[in-house]
Amino acid sequence: MADLMNFVICYAIGGLSGGEDKDSFWRIVAQCTAALPEDKPRYVMGVGYPLDIVVCSALGADMYDCVYPTRTARFGTALVPEGVLKLKHKAMASDERPIDPTCPCMVCKNYTRAYIHCLVTKDAMGSQLLSYHNLSYMMRLSKDLHMSIVEGQFPEFVRSFLRAQFPKGDVPEWVCNAMEVAGIDISACCAPFPSSMNDFAEEFAA
Ligand SMILES: [Zn+2]
Repeated sequence: MADLMNFVICYAIGGLSGGEDKDSFWRIVAQCTAALPEDKPRYVMGVGYPLDIVVCSALGADMYDCVYPTRTARFGTALVPEGVLKLKHKAMASDERPIDPTCPCMVCKNYTRAYIHCLVTKDAMGSQLLSYHNLSYMMRLSKDLHMSIVEGQFPEFVRSFLRAQFPKGDVPEWVCNAMEVAGIDISACCAPFPSSMNDFAEEFAA
């Protein structure tokens, strides 16, 4: 019985994602994960957005749950490495590419953005196809994140994720703050202040 109890214990961090500011959000997660046993899973309830999952994982969380991938699909939004793609936008009407050319899911292999654009405005099948893709995206993100930890490449995973999401280097300040506490150097992903642009370029050219 004692062994069974030991087996099922994990810790839930709840009450977040209720509208608090992001700096409070990550600080509470960091405070909780620092105090919890390292050999038990930590589950952050109701999280979340892909960025939140990457940040919380850096802070030591293991598990998540969220309606976001399917709910945002019902609003016509697809999750992609660069952020989100709004399939209702009129520019999608003539876009013959898949949602995400790098995605191996059934939807991206068989349907164009233009076709899904037509559906999302008038047929539930549009939401279903987007939900399928978005869940596939989240599963791939989770698998890649997991493998990067197993292979000792997690900091590089975080950097490539942030580079794709914030190609201009405009990584939110709360993410920078959280990564500093997590001990992950993301300075290469963040744009410098304009006045120091030359110093920055020289530093990375060296
Ligand atoms: Zn896909």
